[in-house]
Amino acid sequence: MLYFSHRACLEHDPGQGLPGHPERPERLRAIEAALAERDWLGWERREAPAAREEELLLVHPREHVEAIRELCRSGGGAIDVDTFAGAASYEAALRSAGGACAMTRALLGGETQVGFSAGRPPGHHAEPSRAMGFCLFDNVAVAAALAIAELGVERVFILDWDVHHGNGTAEIFRHRNDVLFASIHQGGIFPGSGAREDAGSGPGEGFTINLPVPAGSEEGLWLSLLEREVLPVAARFEPQLVLISAGFDAHRDDPLAECRLEAASFGRMASLVRAAADGWGAPVGAVLEGGYALEALAESVVATMTALAAEP
Ligand SMILES: [Zn+2]
Repeated sequence: MLYFSHRACLEHDPGQGLPGHPERPERLRAIEAALAERDWLGWERREAPAAREEELLLVHPREHVEAIRELCRSGGGAIDVDTFAGAASYEAALRSAGGACAMTRALLGGETQVGFSAGRPPGHHAEPSRAMGFCLFDNVAVAAALAIAELGVERVFILDWDVHHGNGTAEIFRHRNDVLFASIHQGGIFPGSGAREDAGSGPGEGFTINLPVPAGSEEGLWLSLLEREVLPVAARFEPQLVLISAGFDAHRDDPLAECRLEAASFGRMASLVRAAADGWGAPVGAVLEGGYALEALAESVVATMTALAAEP
């Protein structure tokens, strides 16, 4: 089992420009403190390399990559009311995307069946040409596109269990039928997209699954949607790689949403995914997205990594 991160990801600090920002370096510190206390659960730690520009260009136009780089080079600033990039954020963003890419290379190179990439900033809200929702580049989308473009894979399944709709990933793959994207998210909150009726477009129709749930939704609903609606479609898709956009803000303690999962709930979702993926012969990699209650976040990551590593 391989865990990827980089200390540069601790230097990205939206609170510098947007005081009190919930996407703070302490998130990653809390995760790593909890893992260190448990001997990293037996996982091997690796430094996330910086993503190469060609990798980012698989899903983002050059103008977007250059705009983020130039903003950071000039000292940085707020991009919108909740998205910030500072001087250290470009390197953090490269490591965050690069960790997801390195994990994917290791998974498809047969080094490991499971991986976790704990980078910041998160990625799933970043659209091709637009940073938003705390996200600069779409890390999981870059990794999925890399798998198909360079690593010999034809079908990638992305499960996004962050409590917010993964609008960036959805837009990037909206027209494609080689990436199955499924998102379970609380309806009616940021970013507002992800209606059940939106199933993708053109050749990608049927390759997007949006499952909004109401505020107050508990584990039972999340697990049944995953088991009864998402995994059967994924099984027919026969993915060769499974990536999880792993946000932990559906936890009941999270300040940004109103779902009611517990740390163990993420472990249960991870177990279902691992068991299914084993049946498909596909490795599983998780990429950190949201999760803003520090203790809940750390416990949820521990539960997820423990479940991913267990033999089903
Ligand atoms: Zn989120």
